Amino acid sequence: MGTKNPERIPVAAWRVKYPTVAELARDRVDVISSCPSCGLNMAVDLALVARISGASTSFWNRKAPCRRIGCSGHVEFRAKFRGTHIYQALSADDREREG
Ligand SMILES: [Zn+2]
Repeated sequence: MGTKNPERIPVAAWRVKYPTVAELARDRVDVISSCPSCGLNMAVDLALVARISGASTSFWNRKAPCRRIGCSGHVEFRAKFRGTHIYQALSADDREREG
């Protein structure tokens, strides 16, 4: 039924496609950490995360302490998937998952 616009793919579907850092790294997805408290955005080195935390590490619904000195906020992870032009928060309501 026509070409699917990647911008319209629900984030829950991206979660199915990219459950862990391994899939994100394989497709070289652009992932950043973003702190809502201080606004600090940092590129995430997926290969480094896979090496240190393991390839099955998941960013979904995960928060981590902000690394800016003096900031007590928690970063969320965002990804710019292929064919899309915005960074989407890697948060998906488990209750919305199909299947
Ligand atoms: Zn911060």
